[in-house]
Amino acid sequence: MEISGYTIDIESAVQLIKEKNYKTIAVQVPEGLKRSIFPLVDFIKNETEATVLVSADPCFGACDVVNYELKNLDVDCVIHIGHTAIADVENFWIPTLFLNAQSTLDVSKVVEKALPSLIGKKIGLVTTAQHLHTLETVQKILQKHNFEPYIAQGDERISSKGQILGCNFSSGANLSEQVDCFLFIGSGTFHPVGLLLSTKKPVIAADPYTNTVKKQEMEDMKNNILRQRYGAILACRNARRFGILIGLKRGQQRLKQAYEVQQMLNDAGKLSLLITQDEFSPVSLQGFDLDCYVSTACPRIAIDDYLQYKKPIITPVELEIALGRREWETYVFDEILKE
Ligand code: SF4
Repeated sequence: MEISGYTIDIESAVQLIKEKNYKTIAVQVPEGLKRSIFPLVDFIKNETEATVLVSADPCFGACDVVNYELKNLDVDCVIHIGHTAIADVENFWIPTLFLNAQSTLDVSKVVEKALPSLIGKKIGLVTTAQHLHTLETVQKILQKHNFEPYIAQGDERISSKGQILGCNFSSGANLSEQVDCFLFIGSGTFHPVGLLLSTKKPVIAADPYTNTVKKQEMEDMKNNILRQRYGAILACRNARRFGILIGLKRGQQRLKQAYEVQQMLNDAGKLSLLITQDEFSPVSLQGFDLDCYVSTACPRIAIDDYLQYKKPIITPVELEIALGRREWETYVFDEILKE
């Protein structure tokens, strides 16, 4: 089924519901698809006898699957739309079907436009779930223009070759020695700037929604972020009381790392609290009398939401720098990688 410029294989969900004779199902979609939920739900209701519940809980990635919360509502199955599964996020209380939302946009035009901006001949190709099916087309366009495109598999958290997440750039990192630059297909700056910070290779971002190509903007944003991160690290250097954030979303839980962070703080003579929450927000943290936070939840909280919080938030790697265990020159972007 096609809705709002995306193809969603809702037919396979219907097939599963019929096969398993599910009576109640829950559908979870990202913010961008909430407006278009009616035809999806109608289709399921018309094709099956299931009752359909729609989850309004925010969902920013496959790390964030509504599940055990629905157990008391007798939900038999969750249909999670808009993200591909993260392989190590498993053992759900309720069986969960992931359905990708593939963009119907033609990427050829913006890829052609990006060609003069590419650096060198060896080009690493990366994208988000919505455009994975276009990588073959992109590859052919590059080859036609005598470039050498490379697409790599990421670690076990990544479901398809060439895919990156905002917290996992391993499909890019696996190529960084081999390529001269990366071509990112997709919207926004969240993913390409993360890729640039992670791989330290030039990234050219081709956005098929706006038909724009960004190159220098990526560098400028990276430099701004690094300046901000340096400031955050300095602000934490003399802090006494730390909050260590542990995300409860299944794909964001890094308990072992949280304990390691606490050990590091203990060794440095600092006080700390381990704080859990499903969705951290400035409001939920404002009651604590702490000097700063170290986030082991989604790495983007510290990077992208930093200005929303009254107290500095840093990543575990940044804590190492703040405590003098690591040099700023060896700064690495925080990612959730398969151990
Ligand atoms: S942890 Fe953050 S960056 Fe990673 S998939 Fe979830 S929301 Fe995206």
